[in-house]
Amino acid sequence: MSKALSFAFLFVATGLLVFQLFVGNYIIMDLSAAILIIFAILRIEKFQKEATIAREKAIKRQREMYNVTHDKLTGLYTKEILFHKIKDIISKNSDRHYWVAYFDIKDFKIVNDIFGNDMGDSVLLKVASWLRENSTKDWVYGRLGGDDFGICLPAGDANLKQLERRFSRYVISNGSIEHRILMHMGIYKITEPEMDVSLMFDRAQLALTSVKNEYNKHIAFYDDNMRNQVMWDQMISAQVEKAIEEKQVRPYLQPIVDNNGQIIGAEALIRWDHPKEGFLQPETFIPTFEKNGMIADLDKFIWRSACEILSTWTDDKANLFISINISPKDFLFMDVFAEINSLIEEFNIEPSRLRIEITETVMMTEVENRIAILRRFRESGFIVEMDDFGSGYSSLNQLKDMPLDVLKIDMKFLSSSKNSQKAEIILRNVLKLSGDLGLSALTEGVETEDQYNMLSQMGCNLFQGYFFAKPMTVGEFEKVCESKVA
Ligand code: C2E
Ligand code: CA
Ligand code: CA
Repeated sequence: MSKALSFAFLFVATGLLVFQLFVGNYIIMDLSAAILIIFAILRIEKFQKEATIAREKAIKRQREMYNVTHDKLTGLYTKEILFHKIKDIISKNSDRHYWVAYFDIKDFKIVNDIFGNDMGDSVLLKVASWLRENSTKDWVYGRLGGDDFGICLPAGDANLKQLERRFSRYVISNGSIEHRILMHMGIYKITEPEMDVSLMFDRAQLALTSVKNEYNKHIAFYDDNMRNQVMWDQMISAQVEKAIEEKQVRPYLQPIVDNNGQIIGAEALIRWDHPKEGFLQPETFIPTFEKNGMIADLDKFIWRSACEILSTWTDDKANLFISINISPKDFLFMDVFAEINSLIEEFNIEPSRLRIEITETVMMTEVENRIAILRRFRESGFIVEMDDFGSGYSSLNQLKDMPLDVLKIDMKFLSSSKNSQKAEIILRNVLKLSGDLGLSALTEGVETEDQYNMLSQMGCNLFQGYFFAKPMTVGEFEKVCESKVA
């Protein structure tokens, strides 16, 4: 109803009322009262309509706000809002300490692939309700995206281990397959509150990465070493190609001797003569390249170098062998047999002079396929050695199926034992076992004369260790060979 009409009604009704006061006519009074009532009703209706529209608008605005700030599926805060809230909490409570935790669901892709997206969604909803039920009012949390979640909580305000363990008991099933949901959590203890919240989560994520593949440890706290390690990994990974090109990496040779102390071969062990970082031992770079797969390039280079060296050894060195290390990762990036076989053809080398060292971890996946590869090596005349025997999990079980020639037993695993008598019993029996299985035994890490004597007495006849010689340059090795004994 327009304003003018309202006023017209009001004017007529008031006029009639005033008029009836003079003339005392009740009909006029009734009429004016009726007009006033109609007017009042129409006004009330209008106000009601307006109020409803305003309320609907407010609800719509609220809903829009909620949709922008909350994740559609779980109803948790979105990443942007979570970061904003965290920043706010930290700056308003500068006297309190906080942690940020980043966590994700292990193999969430598998959940979606095998159990379907609906099951995937229900797992995410479960995480959200787990968070709601187990958090206190001082926590803020949200979904960072995908299967990643973030929390900011007062330092030490939760028994996270207990919470996480509780959640890890959650099993999903589609009737035939059951799958246990595992979560991993990385925590950054905020030490620099002014830092960007996204950087805080980067640190928590870094901690998470350090336990991501573990089944028994699910929570890790960030420390600066993790960041330094990442920076180191990035630096050396960027330089590896050049290092190979410029031959900053090269094999060192450690003599392998028989029970007369005679050198019969050597193990090729990589070294990196880094222009800035100095002389690097394999433990400073091999784990990095095993993680990112670059080990395959390094190994190919070392295998080629070993073949080059062998091809130059003639006369009294013509029977020496070189053992090369094969990383389990190599199998993922190349046809290991084809690669090595083409090298010995190229350099015209007897296969038995290039010994193949593999570890038990090679057999952790694709067992049948790996067994077939090792068999091919042996059938082609290569000698296959199991490195670091005894350091893994299922050595004895694997021994029965693996095509092998030599067991390399590392003294380190035994000398770390507190009970030397027991260590001796184990060693004696492993040596006997290898004999019974028709394998040669080679003990490595032999550091003292006593160890050498004991091992010889036990029937071992191949040795490698500091007692004889440390790994050395090719030139040094050749000189030592010329003097016949190590
Ligand atoms: P590994 O294959 O078990 O090599 C034996 C390691 O024991 C070598 O360490 C060697 O220097 C060390 N060693 C030899 N004798 C003794 C001893 O008497 N006492 C002690 N305490 N240690 C001894 P290195 O050269 O530092 O190599 C470490 C590991 O790095 C190797 O262990 C191997 O797993 C890996 N690695 C080395 N070179 C290569 C390579 O070219 N390719 C791949 N994939 N891995 C390599
Ligand atoms: Ca080795
Ligand atoms: Ca070894």
